[in-house]
Amino acid sequence: MTSRASSDRAFLGTALHAPAGQLEILRDVLIVAGGDGRIQAIHRPESPHCAAEAARFAAAGSLVSLDHGQYLLPGLVDLHVHAPQWPQLGMALDLPLEDWLQTHTFPLEARYADLDYARTVYESLVDGLLANGTTTAMYYATIHLPATQALADICLAKSQRALIGRVAMDDPAQCPPYYRDISAASAEADTRAFIAYVLAMPGNEAGLVHPVITPRFIPACSDELLDGLGRLARESGCHVQTHCSESDWEHRFVLERCGMSDTAALERFGLLSRRTILAHGNFVSDADLALIRGLGAGIAHCPLSNFYFSDAVFPLRRVLAHGVHVGLGTDIAGGSSPSVLENARYAVIAARALESGVDASLERRQRRHPDSRIDAATAFWLATAGGGAALDLPVGVFREGFQFDAIRIDAGVRDGNLRIAQADTPDEILQKIIYHSSRANIREVWVANRRVHSQGAGP
Ligand SMILES: [Zn+2]
Repeated sequence: MTSRASSDRAFLGTALHAPAGQLEILRDVLIVAGGDGRIQAIHRPESPHCAAEAARFAAAGSLVSLDHGQYLLPGLVDLHVHAPQWPQLGMALDLPLEDWLQTHTFPLEARYADLDYARTVYESLVDGLLANGTTTAMYYATIHLPATQALADICLAKSQRALIGRVAMDDPAQCPPYYRDISAASAEADTRAFIAYVLAMPGNEAGLVHPVITPRFIPACSDELLDGLGRLARESGCHVQTHCSESDWEHRFVLERCGMSDTAALERFGLLSRRTILAHGNFVSDADLALIRGLGAGIAHCPLSNFYFSDAVFPLRRVLAHGVHVGLGTDIAGGSSPSVLENARYAVIAARALESGVDASLERRQRRHPDSRIDAATAFWLATAGGGAALDLPVGVFREGFQFDAIRIDAGVRDGNLRIAQADTPDEILQKIIYHSSRANIREVWVANRRVHSQGAGP
């Protein structure tokens, strides 16, 4: 038997996904996934092929049958993770962003000069995110090339779809002397070296791991470095990630230094393209959104992190109305949860807070921001198909030709709050999954048709 044939597999059961933002339930379907990781076929129960194909896979021992109360969902996409901040998840969230960075985050990130420390943390992080159903993660690493290479090695070894950036930050005015690139030239050279490393990784021929050009944010980078990384982005076609208009401080800092918004400045530096993910974007103007939409870039909406550090709620409905790509980010560790599902929940809550307003001392009319709410289906779409589209990757939807990245949700887990009744409608099932499921309900996780996590059995 060839390795390709040995990994062909079929999944029989009920799947939920949200192509184009609308919830769709696929009851009792057979999803056939090939050895190349892609979905080869989706057979509806009424199809004459469904039963025969299911029997053929069952006979070969490669049929995965979902039990009653179990649902297949597309794997979750996290557009914004700071990998080195895993040890400080949930800590020091009472500080303003600039103090949090200088007092806690930069000293922690500086520790990744120690490769053993980096490996220990990154192993724990990737295991933790896979167990939470995150099949695709877009990571910031640190300025250290060996530790960033180790993160790429670990993602590949554990088969997590990953987009990884070696962080570039060289401005002495904003970066501490113990944790910054010594020059724009060295930062660009290390970024080039990391891109070359990932593209040549043995076992990464299918492109599971992607290199990302990663200027931390404009305040941390010199113009020379931003110019150099912009040239590299055009030359290499790599993804780009950075922070954009996150908080009052960061937004105003860029306005004063560059005389224009974050978005406009990033465009000027050549860092805004179809493959760019902008983290946060809370303070983007309509002109910024037109620019982002025109170039096809995406925004990582990090609803929980925004409550702590952004000074405002992201205007999600307004951004979606502009036709901009949006997905979700946990912003580990600016957000206190590693779960994209929890962040989907918070996206609904944040949008509702924006719509209702939060200051009871204001008149209702002054407090409210009408038409800001989103429903659970939109949050689910952001967590899956929206994130995949933002990255321009074929993930997040059960569709022929797309990657089979999926999670098996089990409502029958005793130690959990998720309870689904026979009579529940698809909308009710999804709402319960979004609001009540936890890591305990994620029984199995697959990336590119490879099982990467299984409760109780190890990966
Ligand atoms: Zn961030």
